[in-house]
Amino acid sequence: MRQLAIEFSKEDEAQVHYYEDRIKKMPVDVLKGHGVVEEADGVVKLTVDDLTFEEKANLRAMYKQKIGEFLASRGLSTWDYSLLSFDPVGESLRYEILTRDRICQLCGATKEQERLEVDHIVPRSKHGPNDPDNLQVLCAPCNRGKSNRDDTDFRS
Ligand SMILES: [Zn+2]
Repeated sequence: MRQLAIEFSKEDEAQVHYYEDRIKKMPVDVLKGHGVVEEADGVVKLTVDDLTFEEKANLRAMYKQKIGEFLASRGLSTWDYSLLSFDPVGESLRYEILTRDRICQLCGATKEQERLEVDHIVPRSKHGPNDPDNLQVLCAPCNRGKSNRDDTDFRS
C-alpha cells in the first residue's frame, strides 16, 4: 500500500502519510472500482502501472481535494500539516474511549466476543474531531456496517 501512496504523491512526504492512511481505510471493492487494485485467488495486487494518465490524474485530484478539506477543517497551513502526527486516534485516547464505553455501543458485544474499535461518530472525512465526544466504541462488524450508512451516534 505504501507503494501506491507514493505513486499518488511524490512531492511531499506528509502527503504520502495521509494517502497511506486514507488508502488503508478504502475497501478493496472501492479500489477495484477505481481500477487501482485487482484481486485474484484472494490476493490483492496493485495495478497502478496499468492506470492511464487520466485515471492517475483523477485519483491525485481526488486526494488533493481531501487534503485541502482536511487542512481547511483544522485551519492549518501545509507547513503545520507536515509537522503533525497522522495517527488517527492516539493510543492514550483510544484507551480512554475503550475503558469509557467498554462494549460495542450498537450491539453490546464485549471484547471477548468481537474485536472492538474506536469509531468517529462524525467521520474525519466530514471534519469530525479527535475528541472524546466524537468517539465511540463499536465492534468490527458494526463499524463495517456503519461505514455504509449515514453517520449515527449509537450511544443511547
Ligand atoms: Zn457491535
